[in-house]
Parts: sequence; structure tokens; C-alpha cells
Amino acid sequence: MAILRICEIFKSIQGESSWAGLPCVFVRLAGCPLDCRWCDTAYAKQGGSDLSLESILAQVAAQGPGLVEVTGGEPMCQAGAPALIAALCRAGRTVLVETNGCEDISGLDQRAHIIMDIKCPSSGMSQRTRWENLAALKPQDEVKLVLADRGDYEYARDIIQTHGLAQRCGVLLSTVHGQLEPRLAVEWLLADQLPVRFQLQMHKYIWPPDTRGV
Ligand code: SF4
Repeated sequence: MAILRICEIFKSIQGESSWAGLPCVFVRLAGCPLDCRWCDTAYAKQGGSDLSLESILAQVAAQGPGLVEVTGGEPMCQAGAPALIAALCRAGRTVLVETNGCEDISGLDQRAHIIMDIKCPSSGMSQRTRWENLAALKPQDEVKLVLADRGDYEYARDIIQTHGLAQRCGVLLSTVHGQLEPRLAVEWLLADQLPVRFQLQMHKYIWPPDTRGV
């Protein structure tokens, strides 16, 4: 039985992606090898508790039905993550996997919905993107590019166009909370006719932005 290091398991609403607004159980795995300048879950990068796969499944089931998101930290850094995702799929859950895009996603259960970051330059981590992952994306998956300034926007626009991202899967653009005025990003993407879905992190408007477990 796999053991995973877990930061927290909680129920909230999904704050991002095309699934935003729906009730969702979050399984936040601990640990991440990146160091994004604007990381909003730094508390998940260390610590956590070792839990068996069986215990995690029981805690998720106890939270009730609906969506489950496996997130982090960076979930794909843990060897047991693919088994957890497959087990949740087998249990009949709709499973979202939020990943920073720097680890191999090709072996994941095909029923899971991948939401993969492509890190922009202002994060300081854009060189860590594992571009081979694009080949593993399915039409039901989504990529997310988070913008802190105009330079990030131009990088995102070029990546979207160069790799034909909108032909592969859903494309999400969002802004770093408190760093880039959303109106500006929307004006830019409309001017360039980008085929993307703009989003804001809904949970940061419902609760104070630094609230944990929501
Ligand atoms: S990948 Fe996510 S958890 Fe890791 S440093 Fe970046 S924002 Fe934080």
C-alpha cells in the first residue's frame, strides 16, 4: 500500500479552471521542488503527514461526493501520486490533477483531468517546464498560464500560438492576485483574439487571500 505525504484534505469550492464554482474535495500533497516568486501555497512545500492510500481514500469519501482535486505543492513529485489518482478514478470520482508541469504526467490514469501550469518568466521558474508533457495532454485537460506583467502575457501569447495549445486542450489565463490588474490582461487577450478562458481565483474573493484550507 502506497504512503503519501499529505499537507491537508478539505472540502471547498473549486476556485479555478473550467470546474470553478463546483464543490470539490482537495487532497493537497506536501513538497515542491520549485520556488515560484509569487507562490501562494508555500506552507505546502514542507512538512505534512504520511498517510496510507487507504486512509486518504477514506478521508476523501468522508467529505462526501463530487469532484476531487489532487494538488500541492507538487503532487507529481511523489511516487504514490499516480496510484492515488487511479484509485480515485476507480472509486468513480471525477478527478482533477493540478500540476506545475515540471514532472512527467504521461503515466496518469486517462480518466483524470490534468490542469497543468506553464510557468511564465516572472515566476522565475519558466525554464523548468517539461515541454514533453504537452504531448500527453488530452482534449479534456487544461493548461494554465499565470501572468504578473506584460512580459508574462507576451510569453504566454507566444507559447499558446507556437504550440497550438488551444487545439490540444483548454487554455486558462489568470493573473497573480494583487500584482496585475485583471482588466489589463483581459484587454490584451481581447486585442490579440487569444482563444483562452480568462479566470480569477474565486476563493481569494470569497475568503481573505491567504486563508488556508479553502
Ligand atoms: S509550483 Fe506551486 S507550490 Fe511549487 S513553488 Fe510554484 S506556486 Fe508554489
